[in-house]
Amino acid sequence: MIFQQMFDPVSSTYTYVLARRHGGEALIIDPVFDLVDLYVSLLERLDLRLVKAIDTHVHADHVTGLGRLRDITKCVTVMGEMSGADVVSMRVCEDEKIDVDGIELRTLYTPGHTDDSYSFAGADRVFTGDALLIGGTGRTDFQNGDPRAGYDSLFNKLLKLPAGTLVFPAHDYNGNTASTIGYEATHNPRLQVNSADEYADIMNNLNLPDPKLMDIAVPANLAVGASLSQYVNADEELDAEQCRNVCDHEDVILVDLREDSERARDGWIPDSLHMPYNSLASQLTPSGALTRIAKDHQGHIVLYCAHGERSVLALDTMRNAGFSGVKHLKGGLKAWVSSGGEVNRT
Ligand code: FE
Repeated sequence: MIFQQMFDPVSSTYTYVLARRHGGEALIIDPVFDLVDLYVSLLERLDLRLVKAIDTHVHADHVTGLGRLRDITKCVTVMGEMSGADVVSMRVCEDEKIDVDGIELRTLYTPGHTDDSYSFAGADRVFTGDALLIGGTGRTDFQNGDPRAGYDSLFNKLLKLPAGTLVFPAHDYNGNTASTIGYEATHNPRLQVNSADEYADIMNNLNLPDPKLMDIAVPANLAVGASLSQYVNADEELDAEQCRNVCDHEDVILVDLREDSERARDGWIPDSLHMPYNSLASQLTPSGALTRIAKDHQGHIVLYCAHGERSVLALDTMRNAGFSGVKHLKGGLKAWVSSGGEVNRT
């Protein structure tokens, strides 16, 4: 496995790149905006194709690299379902699997530091964001933080992982690079408590100053989708109502770009075809399925995904490859469902 841990000295943030093999697919966890060029050159050097960029939560101390990485690599952005970020391609729930080229991470909802904090557990390691730090835990005094929820996340989820599980947090301020669940359980001073009340008492009396970049970072991190509009023209977007009208009156092919897990969880628009975003390149080869469909249904393809991010990126890719008249469903399946659109589940 390829595993790279990178450090941003300004915000003391750790970013992780994981891949199974050179020349394969990669995912990145908690990228920092200012270091995106560094990640991109690392990916190039290792001949990796970035397919997913994950943030463990909306960070308050640095601007996320999620949007910029998506703009450069067309990767899928991933956050937990509780995230308030405006446009994230995939939102994951508790106990969902993220699979990148055979590297599997299981989602753990670990609120406390914020109410949108998630950890991602692999076979031998867990990426804890700020839920569990080395010798510490993330503060709980802003962004809907809650020390009692934090206690529950720590003691009933993270510390239930095998003792030998490696811990890779989103930050370290003391030069530590990794720990284990077992070591933290016995040595982390914040975890030597007997009750949620005792933990809350510690966390409620830290009296820390606000992070320096908080007023810049939080709004920026909630607006990950802001730059997406550059990829799509107004006449290429259909809202849910327009999409329904077009489907009712024209011979339109709807293409679902989401993954199997999202379809199983949320259903799909009736009669739509399934072509996962990750397979787009092969679908668009001269003999690819999407190429054939585009030829047969010139100007009558509507792409959709969960929230309208992957469909915008795919539309841009198709337009650049010479396919004309492709449209996308603005706001994705979420907007479709909100407007009363029908969904199939079987
Ligand atoms: Fe944080």
